[in-house]
Amino acid sequence: MTDTQLHGSGGWVIADITDEQAKNADLGVGKLFLSKVEKLDTEKIIKHYCKNCDSEFDGPTKIRIEEQNNEEVSDELILIERGQYTCHKCDSIIAEYRVFKKK
Ligand SMILES: [Zn+2]
Repeated sequence: MTDTQLHGSGGWVIADITDEQAKNADLGVGKLFLSKVEKLDTEKIIKHYCKNCDSEFDGPTKIRIEEQNNEEVSDELILIERGQYTCHKCDSIIAEYRVFKKK
C-alpha cells in the first residue's frame, strides 16, 4: 500500500491504494488514472487538487452518486453505480467512477 497520485479530468487525488488498484489505473503513459480504479473509499483519499480552485486540499473529495441501477454492460458485467469525485469546496468534478458487479 502506497500513497499514489491518481489523475482525473478536473484535478487529482493522493490516495492509499493497493498494488492491484495501481495496476488497473496505469494505462502505460506515465501517470495513473482515477477513473480506472474502482470507487475509492473516501477514507483512502489523503489529499485532492481541484483545477477549478487551483488549490490542493488536505482530506478527501466528496462523492456524488449520479445513478444507481443495474445496467448490463456485457455478458459478464453489470454497472451498479455511477458518480463523481467532487471538490469539497466548489463541487467541480475531479473524476468519474463506475462500480461494476460480476454476474
Ligand atoms: Zn474546487
